[in-house]
Amino acid sequence: MGQVEIKSREEIALMREAGRIVSDILDELEKAVAPGVTTWDLDALAEKLLAQKGARPAFKGYHGFPACLCASVNHEVVHGIPSKRRKLREGDLMKLDFGAVYRGFFGDSARTVPVGKVSAEAQALLDATRQALHKGIQAMVPGNRVGDIGYAVQSYVEARGYSVARGFTGHGIGRRLHEEPEVPNVGQRGSGMKLRPGMVLAVEPMVNQGTDEVELLEDDWTAITLDRKLSAHFEHTVLITQGGPEVLTRQRAG
Ligand code: MG
Ligand code: MG
Repeated sequence: MGQVEIKSREEIALMREAGRIVSDILDELEKAVAPGVTTWDLDALAEKLLAQKGARPAFKGYHGFPACLCASVNHEVVHGIPSKRRKLREGDLMKLDFGAVYRGFFGDSARTVPVGKVSAEAQALLDATRQALHKGIQAMVPGNRVGDIGYAVQSYVEARGYSVARGFTGHGIGRRLHEEPEVPNVGQRGSGMKLRPGMVLAVEPMVNQGTDEVELLEDDWTAITLDRKLSAHFEHTVLITQGGPEVLTRQRAG
């Protein structure tokens, strides 16, 4: 395993700005989610807002990914490619996964958004996934270990009869989108690397209604659930401080 960066005060200040940009753009994207809107429209909006804020897309061109936004719908777990043919419908679960680079630093965050009114089952999955992220973040205190984050997420998810999507993890983040360490959404208490103030980690549970197994579509990007049941995703970029976790991509109050 490589070196985990401890960010300086100056770096942390820039990462706060990057995180703020990501969160503010996600707010706008969330407002734009509606029946009839295409995932292409959402990506175009993301690109426009990035330019307005003097930031660059984090995902476009990353290993060849063609868009600013990962737009995954319903049984698509993650890495969906925006498309003019993908029109949102009432009842869909829309996953917006979005990152930005600002003055050399990355922010990364994801939200699941209901399109109009969704089923009670879909809403329950959404709520549980958001709460699983919250549980993971609460474990991000100095002295805890990476495995405590995964344990918090996994135990919350599985107690509700859901599964953690297999094969995807959170990650360190900073001058690169993906840095050491990996931050699995499963784990054992007290295992893995020790968490220290100045580490910045993106925590991102992907939670499936049914099986934890996923497969890749022919586009080589979009991951879908093997049983075609729903999946939800939430992510925040989080700084570990002496006093506990600071969510750099949190939504502005009110
Ligand atoms: Mg992300
Ligand atoms: Mg991420």
